[in-house]
Amino acid sequence: MFDKILIANRGEIALRIHRACHEMGIQTVAVHSTADADAMHVRLADESVCIGPPAARDSYLNVPAIITAATVTNADAIHPGYGFLSENASFASIVEEHGIVFIGPSPDHIRLMGDKIASKGKIRELGLPVVPGSDGPMESEAEARRLADGIGYPVLIKASAGGGGRGMRVVNAPGEMAEKLSQTRAEAGAAFGNSAVYIEKYLSRPRHIEIQVLADADGNVIHLGERDCSLQRRHQKVLEEAGSPALNDAQRRDIGQQVRSAVQRFGYRNAGTIEFLYENGAFYFIEMNTRLQVEHPVTEAITGIDIVREQIRIAAGAPLAYTQDEITFSGHSIECRINAESPDLFVPSPGRVTDYHPPGGLGVRVDSALYSGYTVQPHYDSLVSKLVVHGATRNECLMRLRRALEEYVIGGIETTIPLHQHIVEQADFVNGDYDIHWLERMMAGAAGSAG
Ligand code: ADP
Repeated sequence: MFDKILIANRGEIALRIHRACHEMGIQTVAVHSTADADAMHVRLADESVCIGPPAARDSYLNVPAIITAATVTNADAIHPGYGFLSENASFASIVEEHGIVFIGPSPDHIRLMGDKIASKGKIRELGLPVVPGSDGPMESEAEARRLADGIGYPVLIKASAGGGGRGMRVVNAPGEMAEKLSQTRAEAGAAFGNSAVYIEKYLSRPRHIEIQVLADADGNVIHLGERDCSLQRRHQKVLEEAGSPALNDAQRRDIGQQVRSAVQRFGYRNAGTIEFLYENGAFYFIEMNTRLQVEHPVTEAITGIDIVREQIRIAAGAPLAYTQDEITFSGHSIECRINAESPDLFVPSPGRVTDYHPPGGLGVRVDSALYSGYTVQPHYDSLVSKLVVHGATRNECLMRLRRALEEYVIGGIETTIPLHQHIVEQADFVNGDYDIHWLERMMAGAAGSAG
């Protein structure tokens, strides 16, 4: 097992990884920007190294500085968390070239799944259903229109290198194609350094359901069930549940088993998530994330498995600690992503946290790097806390979530806690009756049944 792990991240996820390391008797090295010198992840780690100025490109994305930090501190392995360098195949190779273990899949798997066009082709070949659409990049308007005519409008133009819900445009009619194609191309080139785009059927009322897998170096693969991430705003997840209110046990077993055998044939290693849209009883693959996900705690809550611990064990060459038969799902879990933003207009609200009182009690977990007196920085993602609750039933989970949201005090900055309090009171949400567009309809004052 490793003696020391460098955590190439910040905020709640750096803390989450630190906790798993210390429970395994592994020392941790934090890296931080000058703006994060007082951050909790730096305070808790055994050692810390400043890797650059506040802007992420100069610090948390600064590969030479991170490799140097790992070398001078003698770290055996690097955990990238999510975001930043977690899905950067060349970073993973550089880490390995320096004789350090990258806690994640092989660079080849990261590269392939990071290219959405190539990943769809691969997943289709592995036998999973994909969203109908183009097999390759769209080179011309004529080609895009021909394809869209074939699958029927509306269609979605997506950037092959896209992520974080960005680089997508809906095309409702042929006349809109030329403009939206060039806009999406230009945006993708500027944001991701790759202007390749492709076309997919735009599903009108799907749910987003994803399957968590763990795979060891010996080719053993298990699935840990699904997460329902349909509560979204601008294609970004706001609240997640495990299991999905839309699936029964047989459906859960069936899709889990399909994913498990596809991932095994793929020769994948470490943790991964296969994301699907789910409409009218059918699953359609959209992408695979080759890293730890923000919402992994809801899966941990219902399975009792520490996913980060398993990632570390797998990276150290250990076999999976569980067989599929040993995985059982107990109760229900919901996570609220709490952002430092105004709850109505979503304007970022950085600043000093004057009071901090997280909720507690049975079935309540708070993953956050906040503390009283901490200053939320404007340079990074606005996610400041994840409130995760677990209950024996979905109803118990909802009651507990309401109680925990009521207790949570974060003073001095605005947060999205009031938005979550509003969501958990809505009849559609209580009934589990919502799709990926429901939240936006609800906020526009027009939420109807998800059908
Ligand atoms: P990203 O990598 O940016 O997260 P994804 O492909 O995972 O992009 O899609 C993010 C979200 O965008 C999905 O959860 C869903 O809400 C929406 N989306 C993606 N593809 C489609 C589609 N074909 N039809 C409708 N919505 C889609």
